[in-house]
Amino acid sequence: MLEYPFNDIPAPGKTLEVAPGVFWLRMPLPMSLDHINLYLLESDTGWTVVDTGIRGQETKDLWLTIFDNCLSGKPVEQIICTHMHPDHTGQTGFISDHFRVPLLMSYGEYYQARMMHYSMQEKGSWHMSDFFLRGGISQDLMDAMSEARSQFAPEADDLPMPKSYQRLRDGDQLQIGAITWEVIVGSGHSPEHVCLYSKTNRLLLSGDQILPIITSNVSVHPTEPEADPMTDWLTSHQKFKTLIPDETLILPAHNNPFYGVSERLDELTAHHEHRMQIVLDGCRSPTVAIELLPDLFERKLENHTLFMALGEGIAHIHCLMTRGQIKRELDGAVYRYTTL
Ligand SMILES: [Zn+2]
Repeated sequence: MLEYPFNDIPAPGKTLEVAPGVFWLRMPLPMSLDHINLYLLESDTGWTVVDTGIRGQETKDLWLTIFDNCLSGKPVEQIICTHMHPDHTGQTGFISDHFRVPLLMSYGEYYQARMMHYSMQEKGSWHMSDFFLRGGISQDLMDAMSEARSQFAPEADDLPMPKSYQRLRDGDQLQIGAITWEVIVGSGHSPEHVCLYSKTNRLLLSGDQILPIITSNVSVHPTEPEADPMTDWLTSHQKFKTLIPDETLILPAHNNPFYGVSERLDELTAHHEHRMQIVLDGCRSPTVAIELLPDLFERKLENHTLFMALGEGIAHIHCLMTRGQIKRELDGAVYRYTTL
């Protein structure tokens, strides 16, 4: 059983100290996953922000409240983003400008975050439609969704990502106040996801790399249609299992802080292996990816969730192709997969 040591959740605009010099705060998200956890790390001279929340006025106002009430009169000195996703990076431009402080991030995540700001303004391309049509999406739905995507374009007053950054690499050490943090990079949910680990203080800021209740999205996207993120994801789980002892307090980006990292990593690995068995069973005769989704996902899939689920399904298929357990053939406009 995972253990959750905190009964309280920080109220909006407030922080909760979860270890000496390490503060937990929550920001709202406008989706079924309704919150993100962010962290503040204290030093004698100021604060390090770990992840910044989603764009928009509500989160910005909460940050201003925190700046006024929770920083003991000290400034933010630097920002670390674990990875590029908009709920983690949305206020980075604002905070960086507000305090004129640097952003620390891995190479792959920084450049993808910068690119995303512009790519969200784009409508669909043939690269995108080929990917989804080969997975079995109909041309009509494809046309409707490529129109809808433009609604995700950044708003005029959104500050983009900072124009420079400091690179974080696997194995880097960061001294923040009394705590030495080691950068551990994971992959699969995003390409170069940074976690911060203090062996001495038994703390891991895990971002979306390790979550206690929900499972992180691991998907193939049309920008890299041949990617195999699931193999990276499962390899990362083994890496973290080797490096992080069970007495470590895991501070995740969603749900609550917990103990029991190895049990959770085993659960997540088993979850994906189970899904891959479903794929193998479903592909006894040549099968299009979309036909596998009712067996892989219990929830009703339509529009945006259907596209997301297809990306996840293809991630499982590609892992099985890497393992040599499935083959793929192009049949007209679609790929058909067969278990070997
Ligand atoms: Zn994420």
